Amino acid sequence: KRAFYIGRFQPFHKGHYSVIKTIGKDIDELVIGVGSAQRSHETPNPFTAGERIMMIRHSLADTDIKHYAVPIDDIQQNAVWVSYVTARTPPFDIVYSNNPLILELFEEAGIETKQPPMYHRDKYSGTLIREKMIAGEKWEQLVPESVTEVIEEIDGVRRLKHVSGSDQ
Ligand code: ATP
Ligand code: MG
Repeated sequence: KRAFYIGRFQPFHKGHYSVIKTIGKDIDELVIGVGSAQRSHETPNPFTAGERIMMIRHSLADTDIKHYAVPIDDIQQNAVWVSYVTARTPPFDIVYSNNPLILELFEEAGIETKQPPMYHRDKYSGTLIREKMIAGEKWEQLVPESVTEVIEEIDGVRRLKHVSGSDQ
């Protein structure tokens, strides 16, 4: 059984890691959609698709989950989004998501969906982690160690602080 899971992963954090480990118990392979793939270098989306794929690959290296991370650019047409996705990914039988729009679109397309359990959503959130990076607070404990290493390699915190600044 091959499953699909999608997120923006700005950055990939321990909430994502934990959900994927849970999903991994039920499936053989996982297709991971890296959403808003065309976006980077902006406050809500600091990292490129390639950098996010690195975060995912290095983080999942300590699991035995076979996965394919596939970049998915945004399209502004929800009605054709499912076929847009399936035209770009390996085939899958089931979608794991908690996002109501994603669930609705796949259900309408007749694809099985499942809602994975949330993992300390109050603590592990991309928005919160980016806010901490900008504020100069500690964020490293909220992401897998490999993600800290990728962000250090690309000087990601400096980038985020810089692009989130004002020109005034
Ligand atoms: P942002 O605040 O930037 O939206 P996010 O933490 O919501 O970041 P996304 O990349 O938007 O992360 O999420 C991808 C998927 O992971 C979403 O479906 C989201 O519901 C889920 N997710 C995010 N955080 C958690 C968590 N702590 N536990 C379980 N699922 C999570
Ligand atoms: Mg989100």
